[in-house]
This record gives sequence, structure tokens and C-alpha cells, in this order.
Amino acid sequence: MKTMRLTTPITISHKAYAKRLEKLGIVTLQDFLLHLPHRYDDFSIVTTIAASPIGTVVTVQGRIMAIKNVYTRNHKKIQQAEVDDGTGILEIVWFNQPFIIKTLKVGDVISVGGRIEGNMIRKKIISPVYELLHQNSEPIHTGRLVPVYPETAGVSSKWLRRQIYRLLTESSQELVDFLPEGMQKELQYMQLPAAIRYVHFPENLDQAQKAKERLAFDEVFFVQLSAIQRRNEWRKDKTGFLFEEEKFSKAMNDLKKSLPFSLTKSQQRAIEEIFVNVSSGKPMNRLLEGDVGSGKTIVAAFVIYLSFLSGYQSVLMAPTEILAQQHFATIKKFLEPQGMKIVLQTGSKKNIKNESIFDILIGTHAVLSENIKFNKLGLVVIDEQQRFGVEQRSIIRQKGKNPHLLTMTATPIPRTVALTLYGDLDVSYLDEMPKGRKEIKTWLVPATKRSGAYQWIAKRIHDGDQVFIICPFIEESESMTTVKAATKEFERLQRDIFPTFRLAMLHGKMKAKEKDTILETFRSHEYDILIATPVVEVGIDIPNATVMVIEGAERFGLAGLHQLRGRVGRGEKQSFCLLFAQTKSPQTFVRLKALETLHIGATLAEMDLKFRGSGELYGTQQHGKQWLKIASFSETALIEKAKQAANKLFPHLREYPLLSKKLVQQSKQFISPD
Ligand code: ADP
Ligand code: MG
Repeated sequence: MKTMRLTTPITISHKAYAKRLEKLGIVTLQDFLLHLPHRYDDFSIVTTIAASPIGTVVTVQGRIMAIKNVYTRNHKKIQQAEVDDGTGILEIVWFNQPFIIKTLKVGDVISVGGRIEGNMIRKKIISPVYELLHQNSEPIHTGRLVPVYPETAGVSSKWLRRQIYRLLTESSQELVDFLPEGMQKELQYMQLPAAIRYVHFPENLDQAQKAKERLAFDEVFFVQLSAIQRRNEWRKDKTGFLFEEEKFSKAMNDLKKSLPFSLTKSQQRAIEEIFVNVSSGKPMNRLLEGDVGSGKTIVAAFVIYLSFLSGYQSVLMAPTEILAQQHFATIKKFLEPQGMKIVLQTGSKKNIKNESIFDILIGTHAVLSENIKFNKLGLVVIDEQQRFGVEQRSIIRQKGKNPHLLTMTATPIPRTVALTLYGDLDVSYLDEMPKGRKEIKTWLVPATKRSGAYQWIAKRIHDGDQVFIICPFIEESESMTTVKAATKEFERLQRDIFPTFRLAMLHGKMKAKEKDTILETFRSHEYDILIATPVVEVGIDIPNATVMVIEGAERFGLAGLHQLRGRVGRGEKQSFCLLFAQTKSPQTFVRLKALETLHIGATLAEMDLKFRGSGELYGTQQHGKQWLKIASFSETALIEKAKQAANKLFPHLREYPLLSKKLVQQSKQFISPD
């Protein structure tokens, strides 16, 4: 094969493997190099057959004296070989790998790695790793620390190792460090070409670790750089509409007084933070994060009101018609008395003709429709931002001239993560609930109390309540295996536990219409219990459902569990969440216990970071991609370091063309929420 550039797509270089490699995130040749080992097998002790101690893992090199297939009594094929290295004979056995006798021939010199068994007279290795030794090339599967990679069907570590080794040999001149030398030295990181080589083929574990640290830094560093870049672009040459906060402070106070409740501290803080932005002369780009029920809408109402007083129109966009209607009702209640003209535009309502007839337009994506013209759009509020596409967000922004943007979300993203991923955004948190809100009473139920719990549930159903039972997902994304498990649980509950109750089932493999029908029927109380996989709609609102049972709770992150339990407690009644775990590990116990006392999503998301790292962090895999592969969001020191470095370098980016180019390539991968 002729040498290819690292940017070559694998559809060209490895056509037959392309589909499988894509599963591992390998799309171009250079992705092989960033497919990092998850461990190393230690075959680094290279010794002679005579000197190899029984019971230790070693590498031995010698000539094949004999090799053959042998049939065992139960008709299995094994492969037997004898290797001579001049100091002794080593017997080798493989199981059911008949192709080996085609690749290894008598006379070949091979290197084998494995545990020495047998006795001093007759030593053997069972199922060793092996490779032919060629002149002028070093062994890569034996005789060293050998990288073991995440694999997929048809793509083994051994195969990956070969591809990666070849790339490292043939394309090494393409690997250049893009980090300015001064900075790389100052940060005391390994150089990039060395880091890539040693992360795959290290001389020792310490070196492997150092190599990985350098690559982790790069990963976070680029996330930070592109965030700074987006932030800069957002602000560059743009003037933001000036909302006159001071002039209207009395009006704001009057609005506060007109509310039937007093604002929470965090609502007040969020409003202040927003006001600083909108009176700064630069367009705002802020994310408001808070659990369902934390009162995000009223925060938005204050800015909308200030926008109106300052002479601008606003638009409030919600992902569903029901939510748009809810917002309409809320905004109307609080802002109509202030003299604002409030209009609802959803798919089912006809066109708005006159552009100046509203001060605030509330709606679904219908507010994006062509024939809606804004007169003086000063503020765009987007609810549940992750459900809108990037494209829709940019359309809505183009409708005005750099209007202020406020996006609201209930997805619990920890601060550290928000600062890393959304470094271009300002973030406000509503991390407390309005007073008097009933918390969802949560219990981690021990296995011994399961039947008692079922009795308690039955009693609640007799009293007229409804119940969700969430079956754990078995694989990361919902598959037929998960659906089958849920079906089985459904049948068990119906037959053995709740024969007299009406049970329904809901899972992600159902058609949207089918799901809607089941939810509607459940809502109208034709079922008592809904058994569902975790993929049940986040937005479902069934006030009469007061009990949430979660099976296999240990499989979820705390933030994920919190989102699930948030599906009860929508009505007046006290609601409950029962957690069952299948493991008894003390760590699981401590972790899940936290849900009994903590009721704020962002706090729980922070705990997830501590307990499990970022791999399973709720909300970070929304686009089907993992944000960080090498580094972890829990590495706050690293994140801080990378951030400082990025800030320091950004103003001088032009002096580093290599870095700038790399940034352009990488930026495409990092989707910003705006
Ligand atoms: P979310 O953050 O889920 O969008 P909403 O804005 O819909 O929450 O608020 C949920 C409910 O709480 C609404 O009925 C709202 O009027 C009420 N609410 C908001 N803030 C407060 C508060 N400070 N005290 C009491 N109730 C509040
Ligand atoms: Mg809301």
C-alpha cells in the first residue's frame, strides 16, 4: 500500500472495514492514532526458554520446529507447536484456531508472549500471542507493553495495533506539534509526536501516562480555544441593543410586587446577571439552567418586560405546542396587566399579518415562518434549547439584528462541564426550588422490602393514584434486548404482582403515534401502572401519577434518575420515588442514597462527575457523540490549565498557523448551543 496522508478517509484506505471502524469513531487515518488503548498487556520480559520461570508472563523468541492440528477426543481442533530457542524447547497450544498452521510454518522465527506453564522439563504456553519476527522490525504484539484497544466485531486489538504501528512508521513526518514550543515546555508536556507514539507503544507505564496527559490536554485545550473563538465571533463588531435597566428599575420593582410570590434568591441573581448583559452594549448569549419547576419562565418574563419598556419586541420559542400555550398563559398573566400585547403563534393558528401588533410573540417553531416580520426584535428566548436544531436557532437570530439571546434548559449540566463545553456562553443557575414546593419523597428500597413496597403501591392505586415503573436499559441505547426485558417485567408484574390492576407498556421502539395513544390513555386513567423503558418522553405531564419506581437504579447517573423522578410530582398530591438496585456494593448504596436528600439536578450532576467521571454524564451525549474521549470533566485542574493556556494563546493565534488550521478542523466537531 502506498503511503497515505493522515487525513485520508478510511472509506478509501480501509474500505472493507469502514462501517466497523466508524463504530469506534475512526473515520480518517488520523483517528486511528487517537484511538487510545484502554490498557496495556505486559509482555516486556523477554527471556530464554531455559531461564523463564514457571508461572510468569514472558516473551520468548525461537524457531518453529513442528506445528500441526490435533483432534481431541471430543472432536475439537487444537493447534500444537514446538519452538526451540537454543536453550530449550517450548510447547505451544492454541484452541480451535486452525488458520494458525497456515500462517506459521516450520522454520519460521516467532515471538510468543504468555504465561509459562508445565514443569521445568516440559514448559508450555497456552494460547499465547504470537508474531513472526522479521529482520529490521521490532515486535509489536509481544516483547513489550502491548496496547489493548476498545474493539468491535471484526476489529481486534491485534489488527488495530498493526494499522496504528504502520501509520506511526509511515506517516510520522506528518505529525507535528502545533503547540508553540515555549508553551509546551512551560506546561512540561511531552511533544505531540512523542505523545502519540508512546501512548500506543510505551517503554513503561509512566511514559504511557505522560503521553496520555498530553493528549488529554490537547483535547480540552481545543474545546476551550473554539469556545473563545465562538465567544469572540459573537461579540465581534456587534453592538447589542441597550435595554435601559436603571431607567426602568421602578417598573421592575412593581412587577416584582405584583407577583403572587416572592422570587427565590437564585431567580433574583439570574435576573441581575441577565440585566448586566442586556445593558452592556453587546448582544447577550446566556444559558439559564434550572430543574423543571424552578421558575425559569418568570425570570424570562422580567427580561421580556424590560425589552418592551426599552422599546423592543421579543419572541419566546418553545419546543411543543403545549409548552407554548403554557408560556402564553403565564406571560399573559404577569405581563398583560403591564400593558403588553401578547400573541400566540403555533402551527395550528393562522398567519400574523401585521408586523407591529405584538410586543411579545410566543410560539413553537412556527414563529420562524417566513411571513412573520419583526419590527424591532430585541430579545429571543428559547426554551429547552437542546430540542431545537442549530439551524433553527440561527434563523431566529437572523430575524433581528443581533438580538439578545436567552436559552433555557432543564438538562442538569454541571458548572465545570458548562464552562468547558459552552465556554462561549454565560450561564445562570436556578439551584433552588420556590418555597413550599413538595419534594418528591425518595427511598432506596432494599431487596428484602420489595414485596412490602408492592403492597404499598397497591394501596396507593386503590386510593386512585397512578404509577410509573421504569425498567433499566440493558444497553446504552435502547435495543430489542432492552425492550424484551421490559416486556418480561411487564408480564411478571401483571401475572404475579398486580393481577387486578390495569397495566400498560411503553418503549422506544414503538411508533410515535402508538406512544402518544398509550400516554393519552394513561393520562385519562384507563391504566393504573405504566411500565416503561427510560426513553419515556421528558415532557410528559400526568398530574395523577404520584409514584415513580426505578429498577436497576445503579445503571443510571444521579442526574438521570433525577430527571426520571421529575415525571411525577406534577400535581398537588405528594409524590414518591422508589429506587431498586441490583447490586449491593457500598459505593452504589452511598451514591443512590444521595437522592433521598438532594433535589437539585445540577448538584446531582456534579456528584455524578465525582462518582463516575464524564463517561456517563447526563446530557453530554445528546448528539450521539461523546464530548471528551481522553480527558474527563472531573479533571478540574486540567480544565483550568487548558483554559488559561487557551486564553493566553488566543490573541496571538495568527502567529501559529498550524494551530489555527487545526482549530478550524476541530471547531467543526464542537457544536455550540447557539
Ligand atoms: P420551569 O423552570 O420548569 O420552566 P416555571 O417557570 O414553569 O418552571 O414555574 C413553575 C411554577 O412555579 C409556575 O407555576 C410559576 O408560577 C411558579 N413559580 C415560579 N417562581 C416561583 C416562586 N419564586 N415562588 C413560588 N412559585 C413560583
Ligand atoms: Mg419551563
